[in-house]
Amino acid sequence: MKIGFIGLGNMGAPMAANLVKAGHEVTGFDTAGVTVEDVTPAASGPEAAKGAEVVITMLPNGAILRLVAAEVIPAMAKGATLVDCSTVDVDSAKSVAQDTEKAGILFVDAPVSGGIGGAAGGTLTFMAGGSDVAFAKAEPLFDIMGQKAVHCGEAGAGQAAKICNNMILGVTMIATCEAFALADKLGLDRQKMFDVVSTSSGYSWTMNAYCPAPGIGPQSPADNDYKPGFAADLMLKDLRLSQQAAESADADTPMGALAQALYARFVEEEDGAGRDFSAMLPRFEKRGRG
Ligand code: NAD
Repeated sequence: MKIGFIGLGNMGAPMAANLVKAGHEVTGFDTAGVTVEDVTPAASGPEAAKGAEVVITMLPNGAILRLVAAEVIPAMAKGATLVDCSTVDVDSAKSVAQDTEKAGILFVDAPVSGGIGGAAGGTLTFMAGGSDVAFAKAEPLFDIMGQKAVHCGEAGAGQAAKICNNMILGVTMIATCEAFALADKLGLDRQKMFDVVSTSSGYSWTMNAYCPAPGIGPQSPADNDYKPGFAADLMLKDLRLSQQAAESADADTPMGALAQALYARFVEEEDGAGRDFSAMLPRFEKRGRG
């Protein structure tokens, strides 16, 4: 299949590489000039989209997605499918869905979970919104780039699932980091803490698969000086999206609100910008109650 891939960053580059490995013909574009082995470089988004049966976008946010979609949709053939894998606000996903419909193009919002490890290993989880026909077009590609794709409902439903998942992720990472910092102050060995919690009722993805303590558990950004991984800035973006959604849906999300405030302080006033979201642990290490 001919595929256009726009946004070849931490996630997009390995996803595009997996499509190539599976035998697809991929043309890619990234404003930062990133190139990926065996992905044909294009000079622009519309050039990457021209003649493609499926165009995949993996971009930083909804504002950029809207700009890219406005350029790319007119370059796409009628009946082609646009699959947005970025994490964006539900309104941007719905607005792009409307624009594609007017242009006779199918659309799926399909944000992912699984991080850069999942992108490289082809084990992402896709949460998808869109019509049955659009989902069916994208599903074989989800099977290459991931291990599971859940069709959550109409356009926007994938983003709704993603921001709920990431609200849990942000809250859980903070809880895991503050528990490690408390354990330190109580004189508990970190490895023992991991051995207990990872097999007890406090276990979670943040503890078991992405442990924020260096040298403990499987390899994670903590072992690489908290280089992202999943940047704290992106976590903050997602927590803002879930709070924005909670406000418009009149949902009570107090833990999500606290997590957003903490990540905002970490990124905007402390040293969290550009670091992995698990760097909350050294932040808590330095602090006392006062
Ligand atoms: P990234 O910043 O590494 O990649 C985004 C890429 O988009 C960059 O290379 C940038 O140059 C490019 N870009 C920006 N504007 C562009 C434009 N107009 N045209 C073409 N390319 C453009 O971010 P990432 O970590 O790859 O994340 C991408 C998306 O996936 C985000 O929405 C993020 O929230 C989501 N996500 C990330 C992770 C993770 O662990 N990193 C996990 C799940 C979801």
